[in-house]
Amino acid sequence: MRTLVLATRNRHKAEEIRALLGPEYRCPTLADWPDAPPVIEDGETFAANARKKALCLAGWLGAACPPPGPASAAGEVWVLADDSGLEVDALDGQPGVHSARFAALDSGHPGNATDAENNAKLLRLLAGVPAERRGARFRCVVALAPVSRSRAPAGEVHLFEGVCEGWIGFAPRGEGGFGYDPLFHPQGLDRTFAELSPQEKNRISHRARALARMRAWLESRA
Ligand code: IMP
Repeated sequence: MRTLVLATRNRHKAEEIRALLGPEYRCPTLADWPDAPPVIEDGETFAANARKKALCLAGWLGAACPPPGPASAAGEVWVLADDSGLEVDALDGQPGVHSARFAALDSGHPGNATDAENNAKLLRLLAGVPAERRGARFRCVVALAPVSRSRAPAGEVHLFEGVCEGWIGFAPRGEGGFGYDPLFHPQGLDRTFAELSPQEKNRISHRARALARMRAWLESRA
């Protein structure tokens, strides 16, 4: 069995990733390593941030402590870092890498904003923009870095990208998902991500597409 340490404390993301990868993958999260160093996501692209998170955590895990459990002795251990966000055409690609703290950018508050604050800001900025100019996409880059003291060259990292095209609605709809899901209408469906079941979202999401590529790569090496 492979162990993929998820470089996230976002419970929703971790649940989606576990559901997408299924039972053949063991996926602890940073909640299992409370002392893991925080990684400052200051890259200008999703790829730069995902890569930085994966390499920092893989280096720390390899040096500081072996991941617990029988899988660490028997199987491969990787760090999986996902950096993702929303790109809105009418806003020149914003919020992009700032998706999690979009509303906090205005107040200068160092932490992330709440989902409700981010969605409210997005609707405010798009006030008066007609449906045909509300195009947007979710983008996800997954970075995979091996945790090893000897086997892998330091700095080894593999990147996989997934995109889901859609548009931004005029009001939040639905109770499921997280983040911008209540405002995001995936192309070809008349429901928002938040109105889809987890299974439906996981068939078409940016994260599902990036993880499918990652999985195909990992399994092709077996
Ligand atoms: P990250 O943890 O830095 O990758 O932040 C990603 C942010 O992008 C999240 O906090 C959400 O605001 C947004 N985001 C990423 N993926 C999704 C998704 O699947 N649905 C809704 N929002 C998402």
